[in-house]
Amino acid sequence: MTTATELARAALHRLAALGLPPTPENFQRFYAEAGSGREAVPVPVPVAPPPHTTSASEARELMAAVRRFAEQLAEATGSLALDIDQHNEQLRQSVSSLADAITEPQLGTLLSGVLEITSTMQSTVQASHVELLRTREEIEQLKVELQQSREWMLQDPLTGMQNRRGMDDMLGREVARARRSGAALSVAMLDLDKFKTVNDTYGHHAGDRVLVHMADITRSVLRESDVVVRYGGEEFLLILPDTDINGARFMLDRLQLVVQKTPLIHEGRRIAVAFSAGLAQLRLDDNSASLVIRADRAMLQAKAEGRNRVLVAEN
Ligand code: GH3
Ligand code: MG
Ligand code: MG
Repeated sequence: MTTATELARAALHRLAALGLPPTPENFQRFYAEAGSGREAVPVPVPVAPPPHTTSASEARELMAAVRRFAEQLAEATGSLALDIDQHNEQLRQSVSSLADAITEPQLGTLLSGVLEITSTMQSTVQASHVELLRTREEIEQLKVELQQSREWMLQDPLTGMQNRRGMDDMLGREVARARRSGAALSVAMLDLDKFKTVNDTYGHHAGDRVLVHMADITRSVLRESDVVVRYGGEEFLLILPDTDINGARFMLDRLQLVVQKTPLIHEGRRIAVAFSAGLAQLRLDDNSASLVIRADRAMLQAKAEGRNRVLVAEN
């Protein structure tokens, strides 16, 4: 004789095999099908379960199976929203009621209730999953935009160099890195010579082109790891990691040579560019501010000595 447990199990298997949702209507239909030995009619006609009396041990077995299922569900959905908590509570109540349900009609009703709740829970989980994916996508997009605005905020729009705002962080990081690794670190302060005259002679727009030209040349001469900062109007700070004062001197002499040999041709006119620079290498008693001050003083000294030259900060 077929027990209620077997009928319920057969109905669930059929539902799963056909990929149908375990709604109470579907469950009832296939439960009836299992009992009658016929295939379920495609019309969802509610059919009363066949007459059968469930023994106490069968009820306990069924109850245990449903409880296990409920526990697994509760575990899987434990971290989900409040409404799921509510469903879990309903589910627990239904499962507890199973203990008293000995007769089959009662069991059928209870099972239908349990299936309805689990089906709702399944929809909630699926909806939450879709929502979660969408939120994650939005967060990823925001991250990209945030990174872009941060880069723009730290960049000089005219030359594409780092601006002063970005410099503090960058230099602080490089100083800390040099301290940790014991590597050399040098900086150079550059100031274009007689730049006001360039503006006065060729116009402000030509002056802007000179700044971009200077930025392009500097980037082409420096290494990938070097950082160029637009420190002021026509002042640039170069941060040169893993570079001692001799290396920095070599680099700046080369830059001066290239700048001298590459005037800007603007609207058919040849605009000569020159700069004065001061160099300093990080000392034990330096911090980023004192390092920049020493390079700046050396640059002013280069101006005082006649411009278009590179001087090393005194020790
Ligand atoms: P020195 O050799 O002593 O440095 O002389 P200088 O003329 O370069 O120095 P000064 O400080 O007298 O003038 C700097 C000029 O740089 C004045 C300012 O108008 C110009 N300047 C600053 N920022 C910009 C900019 O973004 N574009 C242009 N075109 N000019 C700028
Ligand atoms: Mg200046
Ligand atoms: Mg100047």
